[in-house]
Amino acid sequence: DVRHGPILYLEDVSVSFDGFKAINALNLTIDDGELRCIIGPNGAGKTTMMDIITGKTRPDSGSVWFGSRHDLLNMDEPQIARLGIGRKFQKPTVFEALSVFENLELAMATDKRLWPTLTARLTGETRDRIDEVLDTTGLTALARREAAILSHGQKQWLEIGMLLMQRPRLLLVDEPVAGMTEQEMERTAELLMGLAGRHSVVVVEHDMGFVRSIARTVTVLHQGSVLAEGSMDKVASDPKVIEVYLGG
Ligand code: ADP
Repeated sequence: DVRHGPILYLEDVSVSFDGFKAINALNLTIDDGELRCIIGPNGAGKTTMMDIITGKTRPDSGSVWFGSRHDLLNMDEPQIARLGIGRKFQKPTVFEALSVFENLELAMATDKRLWPTLTARLTGETRDRIDEVLDTTGLTALARREAAILSHGQKQWLEIGMLLMQRPRLLLVDEPVAGMTEQEMERTAELLMGLAGRHSVVVVEHDMGFVRSIARTVTVLHQGSVLAEGSMDKVASDPKVIEVYLGG
C-alpha cells in the first residue's frame, strides 16, 4: 500500500444556495495516489463538492488545499485546471467528427486557441504520449477511427484519455459507468484502478457493485457532510448509512 500523504484537503467547507446549506462543514482528505469513491443520495452535495474543488463554486467558508502549497480558494478555474486537476463529467463530450487520435491530440492543449496550429506542432514526444494514452485506455486499435463510431463505453475511455493527455495529478470522475454494459464496467474498473498510484482519482458513482469492485475507501456524503467513511463493508453496515439509503 503506497501512501504519499494528502494531495487534497477540504476543511470545514460550507456553501449555501438561497439559505440552503448544500455543503455543511465538510471535511475531506484525499491521499496522493489514492482511488476514492464518493457516494450519497441525490442532493447530498456530491456535485457541489466537485464544483468547489475545481473552482466552479466558491464556498462561503472553510479552506481547500491542493498539496501543502496551493490554496485553491485563491485560484480561479483555469489556474486550478493548470495545477493538474482534471474533471470528467457524466456525459462523454468527444469530438465525433475527429479520429480518436485527433481527439487526444487536441486534448494536449488546454488553450483552445492553439488547436488550429497543433497538427503542425505535433512532436515525437506528443506522439509517444498519445500512444501511451491509447494503450492505457485500450483504444490503440481504434486510433484512426472516427470517434462517432465508438461505443458509449469507448467514448468514456477516450474522454478519460483526453484528461490524461494533460498529465493530471488529480482526476475527478462523475458517474463513469452510467449506461455501460457489464463488460464495459469491468474494463472501466481496470482502467481507474490502473490510474491510481500515478494519479489520485476521486469517483462519484451510484452503482454500488462498481464502487465495491474498485474502492478501498468510500466516503458517504449526506446533507453536505461526511456521514461515514471507510471500507465498503464498513460503511455498508453502518446504521446511519442504512437509514439514509433505506429510509430516505
Ligand atoms: P448531488 O450531486 O449529491 O446530487 P448536489 O451537489 O447537486 O447533490 O446538490 C446539493 C443540494 O444543493 C441540492 O439540494 C441542490 O438542489 C442544491 N444546489 C446545488 N447547486 C445549486 C445552485 N447552483 N443553486 C441552488 N441550489 C443548488
